[in-house]
Amino acid sequence: MSFLRADLDQLKAYVSHPGGATTQQVDILDTNESPYDLPTELKEKLADHYVNAIATNRYPDGSQHHLKTLIASYVQQSARLTASLGTQNVSVGNGSDELIRSILIATCLGGEGSILVADPTFSMYRILATTLGIPTITVNRHLSDFSMDLDAAQQAIAQTKRPPVRVVFVVHPNSPTGQCLTPAEIDWLRSLPEDILVVVDEAYYEFSQQTLLAEVLNRPNWLIMRTFSKAFRLAALRVGYAIAQPEVITALEKVRLPYNLPSFSQAAAILALEHKDYLLATVPEIQAEREKLFTQLRNVDKLKLWHSDANFIHARLQPIRQPQDEKLAQLVETLKTQGTLIRHTGGGLRISVGAVQENQRTLVRLTKSIELLS
Ligand SMILES: *Cc1c(COP(=O)(O)O)cnc(C)c1O
Repeated sequence: MSFLRADLDQLKAYVSHPGGATTQQVDILDTNESPYDLPTELKEKLADHYVNAIATNRYPDGSQHHLKTLIASYVQQSARLTASLGTQNVSVGNGSDELIRSILIATCLGGEGSILVADPTFSMYRILATTLGIPTITVNRHLSDFSMDLDAAQQAIAQTKRPPVRVVFVVHPNSPTGQCLTPAEIDWLRSLPEDILVVVDEAYYEFSQQTLLAEVLNRPNWLIMRTFSKAFRLAALRVGYAIAQPEVITALEKVRLPYNLPSFSQAAAILALEHKDYLLATVPEIQAEREKLFTQLRNVDKLKLWHSDANFIHARLQPIRQPQDEKLAQLVETLKTQGTLIRHTGGGLRISVGAVQENQRTLVRLTKSIELLS
C-alpha cells in the first residue's frame, strides 16, 4: 500500500500472551501484573461511582486535577520529601506507554534526537521510538550484575552526532533482569549534561521501595515515571504518571491528547490512592513469595538466577554464555501446555511472582521441564 511509510514494513504489532494456553486453568506469569484483582468492595465502590457520578455523555476532566493532586501527595510521602510537589510536577498518561511516547515526541521527533538504552531492558522504549522514526542507540550490560557498560554508554553519547542522544531511558529496577540501578550507574546519570533528559522508569517502585525522586527536585533534566499497572492492581485501566520539574511537565502536557484518560480510569486511580494502604498490603506478601521462589529455583542445578528487587525473577540456563534461545523457547512452550505462562525475553526467562499456589506450580513445572530438556 503505497500510502504507508516505507519503514513500517519492518515493524510488527505488539502481542502479549502470544498464542494463549491450552489448558483451562492458566497461571499468567508473563506480564508482571499483580496476581490480585481489585477487592470486590472497591470494585463495588467504583461501580457505584460510575452509576452515580460519571456522566458518559460528558468528556473526562482533561486537566486530571484531582488525580494529579493525589499522585503528588502519594509520591511526596513515599519519598519522604520535604520540598513540596504539586500538580505542576505531574503528568498523567494512558499507561506509562503513552508517557514514553509523549517524551519521545517532545524531545526527539523530526530528526532532533536519538535515545540510548542498555539491553536487555523494557522493549517499549525502542518500539515506540521506531514507530516515530527515532533512532535507538544500544549498549550492553555486564552479565555479572546486569549493570550498564558505562564506558560504552559514554562513548556512544560522544559519538552519536546526527541526531544526538537526547534521552537516556533506565528502569529502576530494570525489566526483564530485576535489579535497581547501582551507585556507579546513578553517578553516571548525574554526570550527564542538561541537554540530555534522564528518564528513570520506576514501574516496580512499590516492590523495590527504592526511588530517585529526590534527584528530580535538583535536576531540571530528570524525570521519574511510575504506573498503576503493577502493585496498584489496575493494569486493565491504563494509568501511568510522570514526575518532573514544571518545564518538562508543560512540554509533556502540550503533546498529549486532550482527553487521554477516560473518566472511569481517573476514578479508579483516585480510588486506589484513597485506599493505598489496603491495596499495597499485598506487596510484602509478594516480596516474601519472590524470596521463597528465588531460593527454591536457585537449587535447580541447571538454572542461574540474579537477585531481584521487583516482582519477577530473571533466569538463564547454565552455562550462561552458551546460546540458549532455542532451549528457552522450548521451556516456555512446555510450561504453556501445562498452564503456566512465563516470558522468554532479553536472552533469558522472566518469571512473574504470582500467588502462593501459582508459584508452587511454577517451581514444579519448571524443574520438571528442565530435567526433560534434551
Ligand atoms: C509494566 C511496565 C510499565 C507499565 O506500563 P503501563 O503502560 O503503565 O502499563 C512501565 N515500564 C516498565 C519497565 C514496565 O515493566
